[in-house]
Amino acid sequence: MSAATLLRDVFGFDAFRPGQQDIVQAVVDGQNTLAIMPTGGGKSLCFQLPALVRDGVTVVISPLIALMRDQVRGLREAGVEAGALTSGNTPEETDAVWEALEAGTLKLLYMAPERLAAGGTMNMLRRAGIGLIAVDEAHCVSQWGHDFRPDYLRIGELRRTLNVPLAAFTATADTETQVEIVEKLFDGAQPATFLRGFDRPNIHLAFAVKDGPRAQILNFAAARKGQSGIVYTGTRAKTETLSKALNDVGHSACFYHGGMEAEDRRIVERRFQQEDGLIVCATVAFGMGIDKPDIRWVAHADLPKSIEAYYQEIGRAGRDGDPAETLTLFGPDDIRYRRQQVDEGLAPPERRAADHGRLNALLGLAEALHCRRQTLLGYFGEEAAPCGNCDLCDKPAEVFDGTTPVRMALSAALRTEEWFGSGHLIDILLGNTTDKIQQCGHDSLPTYGVGKDYDKRQWQAIFRQMMGHDLLRPDRDRHGALRMTEKARPILRGEATIELRRDTIKAAKAGPKVRM
Ligand code: ADP
Ligand code: ZN
Repeated sequence: MSAATLLRDVFGFDAFRPGQQDIVQAVVDGQNTLAIMPTGGGKSLCFQLPALVRDGVTVVISPLIALMRDQVRGLREAGVEAGALTSGNTPEETDAVWEALEAGTLKLLYMAPERLAAGGTMNMLRRAGIGLIAVDEAHCVSQWGHDFRPDYLRIGELRRTLNVPLAAFTATADTETQVEIVEKLFDGAQPATFLRGFDRPNIHLAFAVKDGPRAQILNFAAARKGQSGIVYTGTRAKTETLSKALNDVGHSACFYHGGMEAEDRRIVERRFQQEDGLIVCATVAFGMGIDKPDIRWVAHADLPKSIEAYYQEIGRAGRDGDPAETLTLFGPDDIRYRRQQVDEGLAPPERRAADHGRLNALLGLAEALHCRRQTLLGYFGEEAAPCGNCDLCDKPAEVFDGTTPVRMALSAALRTEEWFGSGHLIDILLGNTTDKIQQCGHDSLPTYGVGKDYDKRQWQAIFRQMMGHDLLRPDRDRHGALRMTEKARPILRGEATIELRRDTIKAAKAGPKVRM
């Protein structure tokens, strides 16, 4: 199976995180590797996935028993044969690991470094058909750091004895520690080293709320005429209509999606590689194999499905290091659609929760109030100063205290028992008389007509931002009715306030009583 297939089918991720793909490739290729990644960046995948591609057992040295057990459990749930030899094992667990090892079915064997000192371990590993050594928290070999573990010094010996590739991972980036790792684990021979941060400073980041999305894409492309670009869309049909619209106004554009014949797809890939200034309107099916350094822009006509997918897709622009631009459009329908996709997927509940989390992270980025890059890198565990190369650094968002309207909206949802969508809730807030309002008797609610300081458009933006902040979530079991999340409770109770962006709430009304 290819790395991309394993990523999706075994690990349940739709895209690599920054840095992962290159590291996975190096480890799969059998290179000695040193990867420095921030905590939470996704190191474990970088040895777990290669362990499945490579022959033999991967032995994983990790100092943290709880973490090992977690990973083993996660892998087993995903159907991967993994086991740990730790002091916390029951005798049965230990027996099961030995048996799997004897039977040659084990793919990953976790152990603490102290195990290496135990009599017989080296011999056992020599017989076990180890194909790769992975070392987590590799800075523990450093005698100068706080986390020195003397038994880590045995790993070098293990590598020499087994004569297999070693992949070392750490979050500690200082040079002294790196030098020590190379010395102690790799006998001083420099491994393939991955330290590049996640940042792609030449890529300009921008988001915009959908407001005539086709025109927004056409305007964006018009300002970049003659440059190679990609427009990602949420549906196959849209790749075709957008490509036609772009051709009609004189661009050279074509479309690409997974429903096309393999041969037709190859033609597009080849054209994109060879022609200058071609625009490809595509679903996410386009990209894995694209290696074109001078893609000058990437636009999303619809919101991607996670922050990882977003990062990977915009990351196709500007690989040559020259300036590149991106624009991501989003609206309330995107939020609803992406939530629904997660809810309707076949993933088990924990994974669904994680998928909602990754979508939330992207929505947080879309509704960000300060530098986008700071928010994006922060999510991947990297600290950064305001970048000066995103729409919010170009022009800071104007914000206002949205606590009052947000509480009004939450109260409207609660008083109608969370059975309605934003359209009806806005009618209540505005005090409109519709059939539905009358039938339900909602004109007698205390919230009826309390929101007249904002008009319909402004309320729509408030609801969208509330969904973006995950205060309200559409419930698929109630036909998409908006329900309040736990996150909204403190605001409703008056224990927290919330800032909303003002720029996306166009003042369509003259002189509102409540100033925004
Ligand atoms: P660390 O680098 O701290 O060891 P982990 O390997 O534990 O980080 O990964 C941190 C989190 O990121 C985990 O919850 C993991 O499921 C998630 N993760 C890792 N890779 C991806 C990916 N490609 N897409 C989405 N989530 C990922
Ligand atoms: Zn910025």
